[in-house]
Amino acid sequence: MTGQPDPAGCYVHVPFCARVCPYCDFAVVAGRDELIDRYFEALLAEITMEPEAGPLGSVFVGGGTPSRVRPDLLTAVVAGLRDRFGLVDGAEVTLEANPEDWSPERAAQLARGGFSRVSFGAQSFDDGVLAELGRLHRAVELERLVDDSRAAGFASVSLDLIFGSWSESPESWHATVERAIAAGPDHVSTYALTVERGTELSRQVAAGAPGPDADDQADKYTVAVELLTGAGYVHYEVSNFARPGHECEYNRNTWAQGDYLAFGLGAHGHRKGVRRRNVRRIDAYLEVIESGQRPEAGTEHITGWDAELERAFLGIRRAEGVEAPEVAAALADDFEAEGLLAARKFEIQNGVIRMLDPLFTDAVARVVLGLAAPGE
Ligand code: SF4
Repeated sequence: MTGQPDPAGCYVHVPFCARVCPYCDFAVVAGRDELIDRYFEALLAEITMEPEAGPLGSVFVGGGTPSRVRPDLLTAVVAGLRDRFGLVDGAEVTLEANPEDWSPERAAQLARGGFSRVSFGAQSFDDGVLAELGRLHRAVELERLVDDSRAAGFASVSLDLIFGSWSESPESWHATVERAIAAGPDHVSTYALTVERGTELSRQVAAGAPGPDADDQADKYTVAVELLTGAGYVHYEVSNFARPGHECEYNRNTWAQGDYLAFGLGAHGHRKGVRRRNVRRIDAYLEVIESGQRPEAGTEHITGWDAELERAFLGIRRAEGVEAPEVAAALADDFEAEGLLAARKFEIQNGVIRMLDPLFTDAVARVVLGLAAPGE
């Protein structure tokens, strides 16, 4: 320990999508592309309104679909962040991208403008599953993404996969993971399809459509872990796998309860124990910034026991676990946690809480968040 805080991360939200996918509950807009230039002017203004921070260790430009907008707008944001805060040497600068937007020319322009990592929403290598998820790309387009991005100068390429949609067979998922590995990415994220309130998917399920099946998703998760770790990827977080040296720094910092700045529609930031969130309506976001104000929708002070619980809640997602002696002691006394401990779903050693079966991470996290402060 040097006593120096780690450099902050930074999240930038770009909400524009071609259409809204049925399972999506992010802050997104479709059919409002006439606002793109105005939105980027607002983003640059918001960056200048943020209180001083040291050089940033990582930047994540996510969405929405950032890759839909002109590369010069995206690279202007990187330049704006560099001018305002600086970037540490070798800072990770990630762009989230949809495969259908990618071309060698765009990739080269983005890499020249400072992006070093790209994370593609590949989701599946099965065209039937892609269509069901409302995605606009086809599996064949995914094969070249990694090579094209590396050739353009990206140092790290990640593929996101979603498992457990209603028509995805076990064979389809197995083939998806194998084809993802064959494409040669540095990093793979695998997420279970979830039914979020307010989404088109939740309305379909409420109307009687089959929802995702928990047992099917557990089996598919296990397949992903086996295939990816067998191919040499390190399972460093519940949903994330990386070749050594390619772990996502932005996520690593947030799971370690580090500080991160946040800009854009609905973005959430965390600085020195204060969590803040931006407004989620695009017209309000633009109008507030254009009137010279920060587009804040709320702040929350996370201190004391709540901060400890949050640190444990975030930290148990990492393979190495989290050192949180007070929370560990409270967990050891909790009736529900006792059962999970006895079943070897997680362990506590010298104040470090560590998952042994990542499928039970959400169950342990729920128990953690319900723990009363010592003495209460
Ligand atoms: S899932 Fe991605 S592409 Fe689809 S609406 Fe949400 S942010 Fe946009």
